[in-house]
Amino acid sequence: MRIPIDHYSVIPIYRQIEIFFRKAIQSGTLLPDMRLPASRKLAEDLGISRITIENAYAELKADGLITSRVGSGTYVLPLCPLSSLEIKNSRVTWPLWQQDLVIGKEIIAGKVLSKRQKISQHLISFAAGSGDPCLFPVEDFRRTIQSVIRRDGITAFEYGEPSGFTRLRVSIVRVLASQGLQTQPENILITSGSQQALALVSQLLLKPGDVILVESPTYARALDLFRTLDLKIVGIPLDHHGIQVEKLEELLQQLHPKLIYTIPNFQNPTGVSMNSWRRRRLIALVDRYNVPILEDDFVGDLRYEGRAQPSLKALDPGGRVIYTSTFSKMLLPGLRIGFVVAEGPVYQELVRRKHTYDLASSNLIQRVLESYLTIGRYQTHLRYSCRIYRRRRDTMLKAIKLHLPADISVTPPRGGFFIWLCLPENISAKNLLPLASEEGVIFAPGNSFFPNGSGGDNYLRLNFAANPPEEIEEGVKRLGKVIKRLRQYQ
Ligand code: PMP
Repeated sequence: MRIPIDHYSVIPIYRQIEIFFRKAIQSGTLLPDMRLPASRKLAEDLGISRITIENAYAELKADGLITSRVGSGTYVLPLCPLSSLEIKNSRVTWPLWQQDLVIGKEIIAGKVLSKRQKISQHLISFAAGSGDPCLFPVEDFRRTIQSVIRRDGITAFEYGEPSGFTRLRVSIVRVLASQGLQTQPENILITSGSQQALALVSQLLLKPGDVILVESPTYARALDLFRTLDLKIVGIPLDHHGIQVEKLEELLQQLHPKLIYTIPNFQNPTGVSMNSWRRRRLIALVDRYNVPILEDDFVGDLRYEGRAQPSLKALDPGGRVIYTSTFSKMLLPGLRIGFVVAEGPVYQELVRRKHTYDLASSNLIQRVLESYLTIGRYQTHLRYSCRIYRRRRDTMLKAIKLHLPADISVTPPRGGFFIWLCLPENISAKNLLPLASEEGVIFAPGNSFFPNGSGGDNYLRLNFAANPPEEIEEGVKRLGKVIKRLRQYQ
């Protein structure tokens, strides 16, 4: 074990060792029942006397942090409640440069929710941002990983190209062509999820203080990203047909935005899709006002009914739209594979930055995904997922009708994962969440999706895809109960 010891310090060496172990035990790095090194061995490793180690261990024993078991060794004891209290109350003095960092300005919905998840045993979560993990084609991937390693050997473990594995880019071109988007492998950049694509594009095109136009509401983690970059985020209202393009021209003239971020299909959080007329009008406007579009097509493939709309990228005469999509939603989020489609200097610069930030996305995983896509399992998996998710959406809509008060409104989504629910004006989703959590159901409250962090207080997002029908029915029933209870007190 390598314990940093300062031989020139005024703190005696036995105390340094004691402090090292005490911190490790209290922070949970050393867990109960873990065995500490034998004093003779540790003394040898550190080049100090055995008695010094024994003195350190004696202090820890006296404080009930470790114990000796005859003939077996020295072991970490479970922390008594008092010691964990001490840890909570003990303030670490961070160096000044750390104290200057401003953190946690915004409440991150996921964090609040994951804390709550621990409260109830039979919690039904409608708060997730992706599909049902039970549908993940894990077994197919296990087999594909093995066959790729057999096939490619060491090559699969090298860095690989910064723009991404060529054959995967070719496969993506085919998948996109099947959705009506024509492109070339030379215009595709593989990223670590589409989240990295959003970061790469916004870091490249914007600087602090620049205006970015977004749908209001929109994807909360994109808002986090734009806030981190100190951008001026301006929301454009949405209606049942997507972003209100009619309101856009005035903003373009007044604010000179540097980027428009939009999710045209089955939007997060509202589930709405932009109609065809607005898509064409948007492209015409950005052309006139010289503003790039960042199109986030995170679940474009998960369509349950209705006409397939062309992506904005497919309507782009060239170089106006930067398109991003992901395999997180239709396949497996843990692959961390997303991609960008772009042309011109912006593509080259995105590749250069991707290389600078993380050299490349995992070569092995890209090869595995390519192999999976080529075998054609992807299309089968997609059809299967759509079938299941469509049924779950219908189950949730039916349950909402049955169990929630009649003055609650929803717009049935035609794809994706989310139902955006509008509560009566006087009910706040933020106030509802703790009560719902006690009742064993959680959701994503609406305000985290709004650019200024406020507004949308009476909205909430429900994920209908991540739970089986019985849980959806039960979860909505619980939600109905809490809403009724909350109303009684108002
Ligand atoms: N865009 C939207 C709209 C999302 O909801 C998400 C994930 N929830 C992402 C992008 C990022 O997904 P990933 O990085 O896993 O591709």
